[in-house]
Amino acid sequence: MSMSSKGRPTSPVAANSNEHETVSGNKGLMQAENLIFEIGTPRRTGVDFEPAKDVRSRLGGMERTSEIGLPGLTEPQTLRHYVRLSQKNYAIDLGVYPLGSCTMKHNPRLNEKVARMPGFGDVHPLQPQSTVQGALELIDELAHWICTLTGMPAVAMTPKAGAHGEWCGMAAIRAKLDADGQTHKRRVLVPESAHGTNPATAAQCGFSIDEIPASGDGRVNLAALKEKLGDDVAGIMLTNPNTCGLFERDIIEIAELIHSVGGYFYCDGANFNALVGRVRPGDLGIDAMHLNLHKTFSTPHGGGGPGAGPTVLSDALKDHAPLPFVIKDGEKYRLVEHSNGEGADSFGRMCAFHGQMGMFTRALTYMMSHGSDGLRQATEDAVLNANYIQSSLSDVMTPAFGGVCMHEALFDDRFLENTGVTTLDFAKAMIDEGYHPMTMYFPLVVHGAMLVEPTESESKQELDRFISAMRGLAVRAKNKETAFFQTAPVHAPMRRLDETQAARKPVLRWTEAVAASE
Ligand SMILES: *Cc1c(COP(=O)(O)O)cnc(C)c1O
Repeated sequence: MSMSSKGRPTSPVAANSNEHETVSGNKGLMQAENLIFEIGTPRRTGVDFEPAKDVRSRLGGMERTSEIGLPGLTEPQTLRHYVRLSQKNYAIDLGVYPLGSCTMKHNPRLNEKVARMPGFGDVHPLQPQSTVQGALELIDELAHWICTLTGMPAVAMTPKAGAHGEWCGMAAIRAKLDADGQTHKRRVLVPESAHGTNPATAAQCGFSIDEIPASGDGRVNLAALKEKLGDDVAGIMLTNPNTCGLFERDIIEIAELIHSVGGYFYCDGANFNALVGRVRPGDLGIDAMHLNLHKTFSTPHGGGGPGAGPTVLSDALKDHAPLPFVIKDGEKYRLVEHSNGEGADSFGRMCAFHGQMGMFTRALTYMMSHGSDGLRQATEDAVLNANYIQSSLSDVMTPAFGGVCMHEALFDDRFLENTGVTTLDFAKAMIDEGYHPMTMYFPLVVHGAMLVEPTESESKQELDRFISAMRGLAVRAKNKETAFFQTAPVHAPMRRLDETQAARKPVLRWTEAVAASE
């Protein structure tokens, strides 16, 4: 990656337009910042103690022999280093973060306050269960509301991300097939518009993947799906609303078709924030579905906080749920941790402990503070906001499909035809306008995709500001101001990077040699 840590332009286009460059590399009270290894030296700070006497190493010869080489900096240098880096971060607390499929929404501060309560924040997973009854009750109560909202009989709480939840669901399907002697069922149908994690999960669980093409209106092609049915079909992995932001209106028929050949229906529920309070996936005939607590039920995520992907399971699959799980015995809560007795049919354990306690606390706080009417309202506002953006921009940009969308608006690049401007150029220009770009070039089923998800947490003022910036850029593109787009971003700490080099020859680790070659 030809990224100069000095903030100098790196692409040939940018290098030519040096009227934008300052002599120092600093910009408008924002200081350029080098890597910590470039500004710190191991000898500058700290204390060296004499080696301790009479200590026998128990590391069996594995102890470090070379210097650890940590960069030493003074306290003000350290502070400035991290504050400067933090200023270069774009965050949901700074502005609209329209990354489609990611649901970057406001995380109410109340969630943080509750997650930090000592009874939740300071418990240890190895504490005796009698001392953490409140924490177990919280997990059990959250599980209850997840089952209620989804209309499903059971939920596995341990998965720690959306993709981890997919793995949980597909492992449960595989365990069920194996228990029933259906080992010839190893083919999983995955629509073309699926999130990349879906085929990856199916492959990881030992299934082969068979892709179903999309129809002209951005949904699963039902005729193509019917042709692919057969006795070896283990199931389908379908996202609803799908990654085009559209509701799969044939979903009940799809569920029946899959069940008619003895297969199971995995629904990717990462977009559940478009359904909460309006649709219960259990009524649609699904067998397993993960929720992204870190999308639907807030929590900071995306390069920040952890994730949690609780996975609801149908009656057919629930006995195969992973260990451990919480059950209520009279007034007491306890964990089933072993694969005998109550856990005999479990497919096993996915992680060391019981899941992400902090996320459970945030999600339950979010649910309780919204109430059932508030949760439904959040869903409706998310869909309204996306449609507001889609219709406000439909005269200057090109929505990929006709009609209303769900929680995200998908545009393609037809409006950029003959302008010399690409989706990537457009996204770079958005950075100069103060906005993190939307998701680009995904889903793959439309050309030059731009997927915008505003979420319910944006006010109308913020949406209007965003829309007017997008509109202004679309007009400039129509006027063929190609150079304006190709040189963007000019106001960011880094100019246009060489994306090809960055992908093909990534420099993932700083070494003296890398520094010397700059
Ligand atoms: C975000 C997302 C996932 C994966 O979730 P992670 O928590 O990032 O693993 C899967 N499917 C869809 C449709 C998503 O939007």
